[in-house]
Amino acid sequence: DRVVTANASPEDEALDRAIRPKQLADYVGQPTVREQLEIFIEAARRRGDALDHLLIFGPPGLGKTTLAHIVANEMGVNLRQTSGPVLEKAGDLAALLTNLEPHDVLFVDEIHRLSAVVEEVLYPAMEDHKIDIMIGEGPTARSIKLDLPPFTLVGATTRAGLLTAPLRARFGITQRLEYYGEDDLAGIVTRSARLLALEMDPDGAREIARRSRGTPRIANRLLRRVRDYAEVRAEGHVTVAVADQALRMLNVDDSGFDDQDRRLLQTIIEKFDGGPVGVDNLAAAIGEERGTIEEVLEPFLIQRGFMMRTPRGRMATATAYRHFGLAPPPRTDA
Ligand code: ADP
Repeated sequence: DRVVTANASPEDEALDRAIRPKQLADYVGQPTVREQLEIFIEAARRRGDALDHLLIFGPPGLGKTTLAHIVANEMGVNLRQTSGPVLEKAGDLAALLTNLEPHDVLFVDEIHRLSAVVEEVLYPAMEDHKIDIMIGEGPTARSIKLDLPPFTLVGATTRAGLLTAPLRARFGITQRLEYYGEDDLAGIVTRSARLLALEMDPDGAREIARRSRGTPRIANRLLRRVRDYAEVRAEGHVTVAVADQALRMLNVDDSGFDDQDRRLLQTIIEKFDGGPVGVDNLAAAIGEERGTIEEVLEPFLIQRGFMMRTPRGRMATATAYRHFGLAPPPRTDA
C-alpha cells in the first residue's frame, strides 16, 4: 500500500482515536466551513432543534468523518455511523433510523453508493421524519408506517456528481472541503505531534506538511513514519533534516509524489512526448488499471497542475517537466 494514499488504513484508524479533533475549535483550516457550521449549530441549539441535514463533499482524508463527529459532539448528541454500500436493504436503514434518539446524528459515508431502494426510504425520513417500509414477502407482505424522532443526517461523499438530484435537494446545508494549504497542514502535524508527545521543530512540521498532498490523513501518516525514524535514528527529536531523511527513505519527494506518481508523469513525458495520450494507452504503458489512474493517481496530479485531462487524452504540463529538471516543450497553441 502506498504511504501517500488518502484512503484510510486500519493503522490510521487506531491512531485517529487519539488525534481526531473533537471540537470545531480544534478543526484546523477550512475557515468558511467552520464559521458556517458554528453559526448553524449554535442557532439549532438555541432553538432546541436538530441541526439541518448536512452534506459534506470532498476528496478522501480531508476531514469529512471528523466533521460529522464534531457536529454530534457540539450538538451534544450520539453519532451512529454507516455507509452507502453497507446499507443493502431498506430494512438495514429502517433499523438504524428507528433506534435514533431525538437530534442524533446519522452519519452515512459514501452516500453516493446508496441503492435506489434504500434512498427511497431515506426521502420521507429526511423530510417528514417518517418511514414507510414493507415487511414480509408475497401475499403476507404489508407496509408499516413509523414516526421517527427529529434527527440530522450527515452524508459524506467524494463524488459530488454521483449523487442523485432528489437526495441532494433534501440536504439543508452543503459544505465542500478543499485541499489544505501548507500552513494548515503544518498546524495539524504540530497538533498531532503534541498529542503523541513527540518533540518536533516547526521546520520539521513544515517539511512533513509540504509533502502531504494537501491531505490531513496523509500528513498524520507521514508523521507516524517520521516518528519511527526519529526514535531510532535521532533520539526522538524531529528536525527538518530528520523529517527530510525519513521521507526520502519512504520515496516521498518534495512535491509529495511517490514512485507511482513519478512513473505516470515520466511515462507521459518520455513515451508519449508529453501527450495527449489516451488513458487506456497510458494504463497499458505503466501496467495499471485504467480505474487506478482515474481514481487514485491522476486526481492529485491534475489538481496540482502537473497533468491535464483534454478531449484527446492526458498531457503532462510544463510544471511536470520542470519537476524532473526537464525543459518544457515549446507551446503550440493550436
Ligand atoms: P475523511 O472522512 O474525509 O476521509 P477523516 O475525517 O477520517 O477524513 O480525516 C482523516 C484524518 O485527518 C483524521 O485522523 C483526522 O483526525 C485528520 N483531520 C482531518 N481534518 C482535520 C482538520 N481540519 N484538523 C485536524 N485534523 C484533521
